Amino acid sequence: MALDPEDWMAVRDGQFYCVPADTYVDPMTPVDRAVITHGHADHARKGHGRVWATPETVDIMRTRYYISEETEATKLRYHERHDLGGGVTLWFASAGHILGSAQAVFEYQGQRIVAAGDFKRHPDPTCEPFEVVPCDVFITEATFALPVFQHPPLEAEVEKLLRTMATLPDATIILGVYALGKCQRVMKTLRLAGYDKPFYLHGALRRLTELYENYGQDFGEWRMVSDFPRSDKDRYRNHIVLCPPAQVNDRWSRRFADPIPAAASGWMQIRARARQKRVELGMVCSDHADWNDLIRTCKETEAGMVWITHGRVEALEYALRQEGIPAKGLHLIGMEEEAGD
Ligand SMILES: [Zn+2]
Ligand SMILES: [Zn+2]
Repeated sequence: MALDPEDWMAVRDGQFYCVPADTYVDPMTPVDRAVITHGHADHARKGHGRVWATPETVDIMRTRYYISEETEATKLRYHERHDLGGGVTLWFASAGHILGSAQAVFEYQGQRIVAAGDFKRHPDPTCEPFEVVPCDVFITEATFALPVFQHPPLEAEVEKLLRTMATLPDATIILGVYALGKCQRVMKTLRLAGYDKPFYLHGALRRLTELYENYGQDFGEWRMVSDFPRSDKDRYRNHIVLCPPAQVNDRWSRRFADPIPAAASGWMQIRARARQKRVELGMVCSDHADWNDLIRTCKETEAGMVWITHGRVEALEYALRQEGIPAKGLHLIGMEEEAGD
């Protein structure tokens, strides 16, 4: 009898679990053996006994203290095949999401299941592009799986920001960005668009930006806000200050003259979200696939079955079935919407 993919890749305690290899994928709770697709907190957690991940992801996990002395970490480069035990082979393919992000490819008895983690198809100068891996089962997220989500090119959003700065030369742009991935992608895209002034960074963005630099990324000159006296308000006029989203409108940002609260996020396409977060300047900047790219990707993998983990599960499930692709929602736990951005 033919092997059923669910016989060897199961949902256990709300997480994906590769049965013959006794290994979880992106588990939210500490386990003995974990394959980690990338460093975001809704995928990488601390306390695992053994971890398999790309070298970049292992370094990110160390930087964020997700890997301790007790954790045995195995670094696998993209396409490096590894015997995971129990007859299962593991390898990673790039996911185009953030530095080191990977799709975890599991092979067992002639079948191939790809756990894509988070991924995007839009170009990103700070990470390897997404790679289509033909497979029997494709496991995808559905964070932005509604037809309303059509992400514009980031270059166009960056041009808008630069035009605003030219129009309001006395203002200070306070740009909220997640510390891992978003911050570096926005800085790099601004540089490629010709922005050549120093960036000013909140302390929470420092270590991961340095880590990206260790992997060869060049962000030009950036400075820490904390290196300058609080009274030095005028220094930041007509400059971009980057900070975590929570700091855009809190006490920390009161030190800047004529601040314009801004945010770079996929959710900025929804005006109500921008208002709710008191953002005056929303840059639509998503590190996830939009509606068309989700459907296109599922088709391109030629998977006979798609499993959908989190987000707008029903919408994607319905759309794929319309395309003749069997799909099934699985609703994993711990995947928070806000972390996917
Ligand atoms: Zn992510
Ligand atoms: Zn995620």
